[in-house]
Parts: sequence; C-alpha cells; structure tokens
Amino acid sequence: MPAIRSQVLEVIHDAYPETFEGLGSSKPFGESVFSGRTPHPNEVLNLFVQQNLTSALPMAYYMATRRGLNSLMEKHLPGDATLPPEVIQSAIGGLMRLRELELNETHDLIFEPNGSRPCSTPNCPSRTPTGPTALAAYHKVFDRIVGSSQLGTKVLEVPGFYEDSGGVTQCVGSGVCSGCVERWESGHAELRKKVWTALPGVFGLKS
Ligand SMILES: [Zn+2]
Repeated sequence: MPAIRSQVLEVIHDAYPETFEGLGSSKPFGESVFSGRTPHPNEVLNLFVQQNLTSALPMAYYMATRRGLNSLMEKHLPGDATLPPEVIQSAIGGLMRLRELELNETHDLIFEPNGSRPCSTPNCPSRTPTGPTALAAYHKVFDRIVGSSQLGTKVLEVPGFYEDSGGVTQCVGSGVCSGCVERWESGHAELRKKVWTALPGVFGLKS
C-alpha cells in the first residue's frame, strides 16, 4: 500500500505542481492526467479538499475556477463534483481577483509599457504608441488575450500573440514587430509567475 500511495501522490504532485517551475514543463497537468474518464475539475478539487492535499490545492482551485462561474456551480453533476458552499465561496472570490489581475495587468502591459522607449523598428505602429494605428492593434491583441476568457480566466496560460494570415505568421495586432511581441511575451511570463505566487492567498488558503 505505501508504494501505491507514494505513486499516486507523485502523479498528483506533477499534475498539480507546488511551484511555478513545475508548470513550465511539457508534462500534462490538471485533471487530464487521470486515467479513464477525465474527472470534472470540481470533483478533483472536492477530493483534494477532503484529503487535505494542501500542496495541490492552489492549482486544483485554479483548474476549477478558470472555466468560470457556471462550471463552479453546475447543477447537473454527480454528487462528488458538487462543491460545498464554503469551497464555492473561496473559488468565486479567487476568480474575481484573478480576473481583475488579468484585465488590469494585461491592459498595462500592452497599453502602458512602463519605462520602455518607443519601438525603433521601421513601420511598427509602436513607434507612435498613442497613435490610432497602434491603439487599434493593441486593442486586437488585448482582446485576443483576455477576450475569450470572459467568463473564467486564462491568466496562467501562455497567450498566442501571433496568428496565421494566408500562410504568413504575424502578430494579431497588425504590423506590430517581433521585438514588441517579445516584450509582451516576457511581461506576460512575469504576470503568470506573479499570479502563481498569489494563488494560495487568492483562494484564501493561507492561514
Ligand atoms: Zn515594435
């Protein structure tokens, strides 16, 4: 039995890492690691709460929360996946704080780059960051990053700044150069790290 227990705990530890570095690996994480039927993230969260798996709880809360309120409060789930009121309360509070962080910080990252000089790449709209062409491009990028996460959050995901346009890969915000995108990518990586560190507090797991 002890061997099985440690194996199970190891799988959980990989899929619900305790540190940000654990997220960076290419290993699958979250509920997809369980064999057989993929459990609902609420079911996993419930189990971890019941078993007091403290180290895996921040990630389990995030996995349940990122799908939004409807998923947290879904009515037609088996009993195991129905969250008790106090867990729902922590999850909703956390979701609101994550959304706020995601929107504000992504906005600042794209629209108000702190301390960065205007771009020097010819034809990049960021040469005039407050001009209409730049603002239109920035809006598209901002919407791409946070828009489709409207009901939940994607703040821990690596965002796609590029799209395929007739066989050519280019920035979602038309004309924005790769240097500007790199600045956004590293800024967003910082945001993910910051959010990760904040998860236990965000979900009220710190005593
Ligand atoms: Zn640029």
